[in-house]
Amino acid sequence: MRTIVMIVLALCMAAQTGFAQSQREQARAAYDAGTTRLDSGDFSGAAADFERACRIEPDNRTYLLWHMRLQVYLGQNAAFAGNHRQAIASFTQALNAKEKFSGSGDSEHLAIKRLLDLTREHQALGSFRPEYVHRVRVLYIRHTDLKDVVDKDGRPVKSKGSIKDSQITASIRAQDQLKFFIETLTGGKLSLSFERTVVNTTLTRAVIYARQANRTMYRPDFSSTSESLGPYLFPQRNSIDSVFMYFVNPGFPVWPFANGVPMVYIPYTWYGPGRGSIAMPMDAAVAKNNSELVANFPHSWVTFHEFFHVIERRSGGIGPTHGWLPESIEKSKKAFPAWVPDPNEAWTATEYTWYRYHLHNTLPARMRLQSQKSKLVPPFKNFSFALTSPDAHADGLFATYSRALAGISLDRLRQAGELVGKADKARQGKRVDEARSLYAEALRHNPYHHRALYELGMDAYRRRDSAAVERYFSTLERVFPDPKYARPRPARTR
Ligand SMILES: [Zn+2]
Repeated sequence: MRTIVMIVLALCMAAQTGFAQSQREQARAAYDAGTTRLDSGDFSGAAADFERACRIEPDNRTYLLWHMRLQVYLGQNAAFAGNHRQAIASFTQALNAKEKFSGSGDSEHLAIKRLLDLTREHQALGSFRPEYVHRVRVLYIRHTDLKDVVDKDGRPVKSKGSIKDSQITASIRAQDQLKFFIETLTGGKLSLSFERTVVNTTLTRAVIYARQANRTMYRPDFSSTSESLGPYLFPQRNSIDSVFMYFVNPGFPVWPFANGVPMVYIPYTWYGPGRGSIAMPMDAAVAKNNSELVANFPHSWVTFHEFFHVIERRSGGIGPTHGWLPESIEKSKKAFPAWVPDPNEAWTATEYTWYRYHLHNTLPARMRLQSQKSKLVPPFKNFSFALTSPDAHADGLFATYSRALAGISLDRLRQAGELVGKADKARQGKRVDEARSLYAEALRHNPYHHRALYELGMDAYRRRDSAAVERYFSTLERVFPDPKYARPRPARTR
């Protein structure tokens, strides 16, 4: 009898173990299928598989992790497409999964919670008409192949690579998220639009930005692309509010930065008026493939961080910069007593409260103030760079000048541009002879440099050398016919 009981028990346990075993296998199979679907770009298929894996084996951390990631991904898609209900459902699932496997309060949890909260706020706006849509020109510089770049110790820097499509996808998601944040936090008063072009050109230079103990930090030289970016910028100069630049930087570290990208018309020679800007290095880790794309969703925060610098600038300054940093908090609280910083030390926590405060309060107040002066209404129109600092150059000028410069190599343009830079410094320092010889030297590399021709022409005018005035200004009128560079009226003879 006892033996029989034992045998029955043993059989039951074996069956249970067998059952659990097959459950685990089913969950594992669902997870594997999800991974394959994700690799192939079937995101909703992958999401369904990961969700199934979690249902079968609810405590498996790996399955929960991927379930969370895909729900964030699908939630973002829904939110950015205006499907708030679907977005809230996905973000809620993601948040539950996150809390189940790793609790709350870290930056990943914050990112999901924020998406969920902002989706509810965006939904509450209903259908809205923004006062202004800030127009962003997005250029992806497809390739990088640095030439003659050395690090702080003089060692050559080799860097060769291309932007991957998954990186572009990741950047577009970050832009969409930025737009969503801006719309929500301005109560629908401000929005963004993006016009994107992947430029099949090669970045060839970077300049040293910071020398650190163990490494050199760089910034890309956007004039150094093998094909000029001018044709993507000049024709739209008065409809561009900001320029976002993307590039790959294998082997040369770059911090993302804002407001430091010139609107290149003719490389090293002619630049447009100031615009907002962001430059984003596509560091290899961000999104080399679909798994990294969905895993690195908190990274899209960086685009919002950088754009806040554009907001600071367009607002006429919001100080201190990075006012949310621990060392600045006391100072910031004095400047903005109503700001309540989040004491959570996790990445983006305190920072978010700072941005949220200023988007709710400082920015609208500054826009109203600017509107009173500029008469641009409604107030958020003052968030435009194109409207507040238009470029009055004639449309045909770009083609005329480009034709004149067509035969001059990029290298020669650069040498001329550097000499003009030095000459300007000499001129500002009242070192007239030095300035004159530097401008003249610049013309040996680029005989049509408009600024060199103009400064030499004006110098000749002051020296009453009418033959030289004629020489410089007749060339200038031919290659760069612009009223701002017109020849001075001839001195009256008495
Ligand atoms: Zn910053």
